[in-house]
Amino acid sequence: MKRILITGGAGFIGSHLCERLLNEGNEVICIDNFFTGSKRNVAHLLDNAYFELIRHDVTMPFFVEADEIYNLACPASPVHYQINPIKTIKTSVMGSINALGLAKRTKARILQASTSEVYGSPDIQPQPESYWGHVNPIGPRSCYDEGKRCAESLFMNYHISNQVDIKIARIFNTYGPRMNPQDGRVIANFVVQALKGEPITIYGDGSQTRSFQYISDLVDGLIKLMNSPSDFHGPVNIGNPEEFTVSELADLILEMTGSKSEITYLPLPTDDPMQRKPDITLAKENLNGWNPGVKLREGLEATIGYYQQLLHEGEL
Ligand code: NAD
Ligand code: UDP
Repeated sequence: MKRILITGGAGFIGSHLCERLLNEGNEVICIDNFFTGSKRNVAHLLDNAYFELIRHDVTMPFFVEADEIYNLACPASPVHYQINPIKTIKTSVMGSINALGLAKRTKARILQASTSEVYGSPDIQPQPESYWGHVNPIGPRSCYDEGKRCAESLFMNYHISNQVDIKIARIFNTYGPRMNPQDGRVIANFVVQALKGEPITIYGDGSQTRSFQYISDLVDGLIKLMNSPSDFHGPVNIGNPEEFTVSELADLILEMTGSKSEITYLPLPTDDPMQRKPDITLAKENLNGWNPGVKLREGLEATIGYYQQLLHEGEL
């Protein structure tokens, strides 16, 4: 039995990871300040004697013993990470320093949840890990993008200078049940709007693209990366390369929900990337047969079901 620490474990991705690692027979410690995550996301795990939930802010040091650490703490949606940009930077940078210090002391293997945002608004398509990115260092997304880029640098330098056993995952847009309905990210917004009969808010003309990965494919990829050979550190892209325009996504969600919502067009936010699609060659070669298999329509069915249940319970 391994003892696994997950920072940000009460968030969307973290809660699925906690659940999966507990089911595989591990002890899981979840640290979260509940900024964007919630107790509700992990309430079904609280009866498990091998699950521990700690309210704590990762910008302050934390002391536990662990064999593995997944460093996920950081708001992920543009709406939330821009509420307090300085706090977002502190969470990525100081949170990583604290987690890496812990890994150094306990000799734990540590995985960083980095992001496709390190590529900024990319000028090549698809993006391989060797691409250094096209990031505006002072724009409204920079608190997130540059915080995550600094975290990658910290991880690599703790590895080189202090022999910390690191893994870096660059996660592309991921969706599924337990995404905060107020999250502001496109799938949460469109599904909630469609279910409530409210206008679907397309930013820009809807021609920008994203590649959407279902949560179970991401969790598989993260666990395979954590268990990959000790000489493989990444960074490695983890995403589903099937690319859709935002308009195509809106049409699919309208069709699947049977909603009569109108489409409304709003201005495109500053620095919103026009395209994003992972090159997953490296992941396929190094992550023990990993291949994202869940189609958008299939993943959306489960996601729509989750929000329908919230609506039914009066939570939307
Ligand atoms: P989320 O907002 O649901 O989860 C983030 C969690 O971190 C929340 O539970 C939040 O309360 C917690 N948190 C934030 N600041 C904290 C702090 N200072 N101290 C302690 N806890 C804190 O988002 P998510 O989609 O689950 O993302 C998880 C991680 O994956 C993030 O690091 C994010 O950058 C990364 N990521 C996600 C995506 C995606 O598409 N979902 C894509 C790329 C990278
Ligand atoms: N988007 C949109 N309407 C919304 C929310 C988002 O058209 O209500 C667009 C957004 O401008 C972006 C894409 O959908 O082009 C994905 O946005 P999201 O916030 O989900 O993620 P990110 O921009 O970080 O990839």
